[in-house]
Amino acid sequence: MRHVFVAGSINMDVVATAERHPRIGETVAGEAVLYFPGGKGANQAVASAKLGVPTTLVGRLGTDAFGKELRAFLVAQGVDLSCVKTTSGTHSGTAIITLANADNTIVVVPGANGLVSARDVASPDFVRGDVAVSQFEIPLPAIAAFFRRARAVGATTILNPAPAKQADKALLDLVDILVMNETELGYLTGTELRDSDTPERFSEAARTLGQGRIVCVTLGKRGVLALVDNQPLLVPGREVKAVDTTGAGDCFVGALASQLAIGKPLGDALAYANAAASICVQRMGAAPSMPTAQEVEDALS
Ligand code: ATP
Repeated sequence: MRHVFVAGSINMDVVATAERHPRIGETVAGEAVLYFPGGKGANQAVASAKLGVPTTLVGRLGTDAFGKELRAFLVAQGVDLSCVKTTSGTHSGTAIITLANADNTIVVVPGANGLVSARDVASPDFVRGDVAVSQFEIPLPAIAAFFRRARAVGATTILNPAPAKQADKALLDLVDILVMNETELGYLTGTELRDSDTPERFSEAARTLGQGRIVCVTLGKRGVLALVDNQPLLVPGREVKAVDTTGAGDCFVGALASQLAIGKPLGDALAYANAAASICVQRMGAAPSMPTAQEVEDALS
């Protein structure tokens, strides 16, 4: 069995609930404060580790109290933190979220995540067959250095270009598998896409990214569309009662990486990740809703 390495963000999401949002300059009394470990890097690493595959997170935490809490949480989920540095003079990535009437406002302050450097990603000892995963919540030069090292030994690279932002060709050329949702696909390809578009339309847009790599477009309850050698493969969504889709994309990416690391063929790994993400959406939260291997196997049997 090979190893999954995830270079990415680690955040504490602090959620304040209230009856309504304050207007500018106004203070309103809230109802509750909730703390959720998050960040795309952390979520994807938890998804992979909970499925029983050795998983190392590469990133940074601050010296604040959240840093200690996040460390304890991730260790309890089975994630190896030997490549996570504690950085003095900054705080851990923090998202301040206000939630009222099912609408939210979010301010994310990257803190230590914004300091992840090309030197930090020199620590993992990749071997052929390992899987290196990253997203767009750490600086792009660090992602490029991480993928370059992985590629040099024959590890597979997976980029989840989220949240959507521009990426240059040099970075995309280091990617074996791109996994994104419709919004990110629209952004990366400069195409106007809507959730309701047909898989054929997504396939057409994704084709421009498919030169020399596999492109996967997650389609929410419709499942996932993969382009392999630019040939479309649609894995239909599983019929479940979704209660909270937060983290579904992260679950999908972490599960896909885990299955490729244990040597599953792509089609099987996609079906497995689709099943894992369909379990995630049936529970509240992101990292805490990632399924175990037993739960995914039960769903697939
Ligand atoms: P998020 O930003 O909420 O984490 P996302 O937009 O990145 O999600 P989606 O395409 O919504 O990603 O979902 C990822 C995967 O989760 C889908 O490809 C599918 O496998 C699964 N999924 C999402 N929503 C549902 C649903 N309602 N029913 C079944 N499976 C779902």
